[in-house]
Amino acid sequence: MSSIPHSRPLLGSAEKRALCRVIDSGMLAEGKEVAAFEHELAERVGRRGAVAVHSGTAALTLALEVLGVRNGDRVAMPSYVCSALLHAVQALDAQPVLVDVNPSTFNLDPDDLRRRLRARVKAVIVPHMFGLAAELDAIAACGPPVVEDCALALGARYHGRPVGSFGALAIFSFYATKMIAAGEGGMVVGDRTSLLSHVRDLRSYDGRKRHRRRFNHKMTELQAAVGRIQLRRLESFIQRRRCGAEHYFESLAGGPWELPPQAPGHVYHRFVLRTRRSASRFLSELNRHGIEARRPVFLPLHRYLDQEGFPGAEDAYRRAVSIPLYPALTPAELGRVAQVTRRVGDRFGR
Ligand SMILES: *Cc1c(COP(=O)(O)O)cnc(C)c1O
Repeated sequence: MSSIPHSRPLLGSAEKRALCRVIDSGMLAEGKEVAAFEHELAERVGRRGAVAVHSGTAALTLALEVLGVRNGDRVAMPSYVCSALLHAVQALDAQPVLVDVNPSTFNLDPDDLRRRLRARVKAVIVPHMFGLAAELDAIAACGPPVVEDCALALGARYHGRPVGSFGALAIFSFYATKMIAAGEGGMVVGDRTSLLSHVRDLRSYDGRKRHRRRFNHKMTELQAAVGRIQLRRLESFIQRRRCGAEHYFESLAGGPWELPPQAPGHVYHRFVLRTRRSASRFLSELNRHGIEARRPVFLPLHRYLDQEGFPGAEDAYRRAVSIPLYPALTPAELGRVAQVTRRVGDRFGR
């Protein structure tokens, strides 16, 4: 029996037709599809406008730049997160200020943020980890402008409102493993037209009378055409994720782990177990039995930067195991993941 992959996008005939339409049109570079994708995503998230770019990392870098982050400025972010955040901040020659996370939600800890704000911070990047909204009210009350990182949480809600509708700006990613997939791609959304047009300006390099440092951040029509179809399917994708999560909550209850938080606005981008002891034995046993399980964060940022004092992020890193959960997972695969996880838990987890 072949292994069940940790992630797999769900693309079909509608995406194929959209790609053929773009190819037949003869227009591959940024055009009508990109404009329509921007409009539709802004509408979905409830914001005034959106600017499409080639990746989530580019979206984050440009969002910080138009908020005024410059050489030497400090930008706060959680330690337990994908290294894209660190790259975005360092691309601007800014300084990362790492903040601890709450290990039971994996999200930024607002109390720790307050403690680390003694030094002036220009912006805070707030990811909604694995599809669950962070504590935005408490974080916003700390003061610095918030950039919501919704790379893992398109469609999630906080107090009934879509994530991405709260921060000064918010960013999305359409990489192959995210809530919707366009291969690569990203978006900045917001309400202030001056910020959005600044991002739009920075996205491309040509046709300017004055020279300054620029880069090519543009999205193609091919990506946008696929992204638009995927966005239309988002609600059904979320339904399938929630349904799969429900199955895991039932069949994995009472095992040697803590189950993920259950909340109405959660979209379950990942289903992350917190094992009792170290995750490594668990991961190797699951992988040996044909289930591709992963650490949901490769390495916490404080380890890259050789910093200490992040007990929440350390706990999450040592114990977190992500098992397959995505819309393309069949009921038979879902059953097999649950059954094998249960068996490995009974044997090695206690
Ligand atoms: C994937 C991801 C990004 C970066 O998106 P890319 O499109 O891969 O550049 C940023 N933040 C978080 C939380 C992510 O998971």
